[in-house]
Amino acid sequence: HLPVARRRRVLLKLSGEVFGGGKLGVDPVTVRGIAEQIAATVGTVEVAIVVGGGNFFRGAELSASGMDRSRADYMGMLGTVMNCLALQDFLEQAGVDTRVQSAISMAQVAETYIPRRAIRHMEKDRVVIFGAGAGLPYFSTDTVAAQRALEVDADVVLMAKSGVDGVYTADPKKDPSATKLEHLTYEEALIKDIRVMDQTAMTMCKDNKLEMMVFGMEGDGNVTRAILGEQIGTRVTV
Ligand code: UDP
Repeated sequence: HLPVARRRRVLLKLSGEVFGGGKLGVDPVTVRGIAEQIAATVGTVEVAIVVGGGNFFRGAELSASGMDRSRADYMGMLGTVMNCLALQDFLEQAGVDTRVQSAISMAQVAETYIPRRAIRHMEKDRVVIFGAGAGLPYFSTDTVAAQRALEVDADVVLMAKSGVDGVYTADPKKDPSATKLEHLTYEEALIKDIRVMDQTAMTMCKDNKLEMMVFGMEGDGNVTRAILGEQIGTRVTV
């Protein structure tokens, strides 16, 4: 048998912020818009998504107000699953087959995380949505995005950002002379403490030579363009 040309496969990281439109909970209009942009790429690119949960709970914040950290982190993970279900719903409405895979078992709403099965879903044009983070307290969904991308053999991690369209030389909200970078190495990001994703996640990408692109959600069709491989933000490589 001749080897079959593999399609582009991406891991899209959507933070909880994106789901809530800056507020607590899920903003259906926003989620529908994102789902439609993802739907436009199905059949061309294989898409897996890691969903954050900051629009519901962040473990570190709950723990700062007195909760046990691990329990608070589990609340954070459960929040991500609600985002997964919202995204699943709007993707299905847009005509896309989807599967949610959760790192915490909850058979009624999601499959268990099984990486080989996730790959099979993508090969069949299903979008796979990973929920409940790693299922482990003290982790972030950024780290999970890097880990899942490696395990399902994605070509790139796409970090969708709200309110900013890439990595800048300085904080563009504070420094008007800041310019957007086309490219950055993980080394530079780590040394300069540029927080495009958390350090654990960045180290994992660096050690495993996984490429990342940081881009802004806001532009017209930006999510579609990023998935299709257009360079609209900042590329981060080793
Ligand atoms: N979380 C966790 N382990 C994981 C992923 C997430 O404990 O593997 C918890 C953690 O408390 C985190 C919350 O879930 O604050 C929501 O995830 P995150 O903050 O990464 O979401 P985002 O910032 O992307 O919205």
